[in-house]
Amino acid sequence: MDIPSFLNKTNPYFQKLKSSDKAKFHDRVEKFIDRKSITGRQNFLVTQEVRVTLAAAAVQLTLGLDTWDLDYFSQILIYPSEYQNPQTRQMHKGETNMGGFMCFSWIDFLRGNKTPDDKINLGLHEFGHALRFSGMQGHEPDYFFDNYFKRWLACASREYTKMRKGYASILRKYGAVNINEFFSVVVETFFENPQEFKTNLPELYHHTSILLNQTTAIDGSIVLNCRESLMKLNISKDIKENRTLLKYVLPNSGAIYAALLFVIFGCFSLLGDGYKHPPAYILFILAGLCWLHLERKYTRVYFKGKNLMIEKGFFLTKNPHSKTLPISQLISFYANYYELDNTPKIEGCNIVFYYEGDFYEENLYFELTQPHFDQLCDVLIANYVHVHIVR
Ligand SMILES: [Zn+2]
Repeated sequence: MDIPSFLNKTNPYFQKLKSSDKAKFHDRVEKFIDRKSITGRQNFLVTQEVRVTLAAAAVQLTLGLDTWDLDYFSQILIYPSEYQNPQTRQMHKGETNMGGFMCFSWIDFLRGNKTPDDKINLGLHEFGHALRFSGMQGHEPDYFFDNYFKRWLACASREYTKMRKGYASILRKYGAVNINEFFSVVVETFFENPQEFKTNLPELYHHTSILLNQTTAIDGSIVLNCRESLMKLNISKDIKENRTLLKYVLPNSGAIYAALLFVIFGCFSLLGDGYKHPPAYILFILAGLCWLHLERKYTRVYFKGKNLMIEKGFFLTKNPHSKTLPISQLISFYANYYELDNTPKIEGCNIVFYYEGDFYEENLYFELTQPHFDQLCDVLIANYVHVHIVR
């Protein structure tokens, strides 16, 4: 069977690819068929056409990703039509089972492909689940997809919450069932009606394009490897330069007193015994160590332009550890919450950010009172940074 010419005839997505991307698609389809056990149930005959058609849906979804073969799911069962799940006794058209297998009703799979712009596509829907669950199960998931998913979620939660409340959406109602269904419904719409998606939910479309590392251009062609350029365009909102509100509190003022005491005793012992007296120098060294301990913990966080500025140290170690992070590259922000004498406080956080092809994590020590923290969160949330408060 000549796979490229079969796909050229039957697969509208394949038709919209550049020729080099068609080669990549073809290669992955062959590998997918090799790596999966695809078997028929209830006398369904699995032909090469069936295998290619099935694999094409998985490859379409993951063509922009580096790790793409959904390795948690090694077995795919195909039924001729709707089938009954032996455990739940319910009828299914498709299923992505956490046990590591997938099932499809072939008649419904083909129905999904038949109308390529009705936003219903069983294959893309189930492989959307498989992509998400492969990440959650931790069997070699796609590194970028897994990390960026948090930021995608921060953006998606608005539309999802609206749908949960019963508001109309261009996304299929079924997406309101839970966040996994929402993701799969987004996937179906992303491929089957990109123009409507882009016009009505531009931000969600934008973040989905980054997440999957592919997008549909105005002329309808598929553009792969768009994530770097799109990330730079991540929408920046409501960022006013704010140097004063996010005040730090020195978390360990004991170190200042200790350092001062060591300096004072050092000076007195120099005065009393002269410059050859070694204990004075030991006291000065201790003073220095206390001071460094304080500086290491000292962090100041504020917004400047479209950046989150993180300054560490304030005297001896001031500049080397400072960072300028474009908010467009921030992924998530986990803050530690606690209460002291009934006063809520935020002490320290862990941030994840993306920089030139890699994700970085950083732990910051600082102390914020609730109103200052709320202000910080407002800006982060407006920019779809995933904010999580650890209690
Ligand atoms: Zn589903």
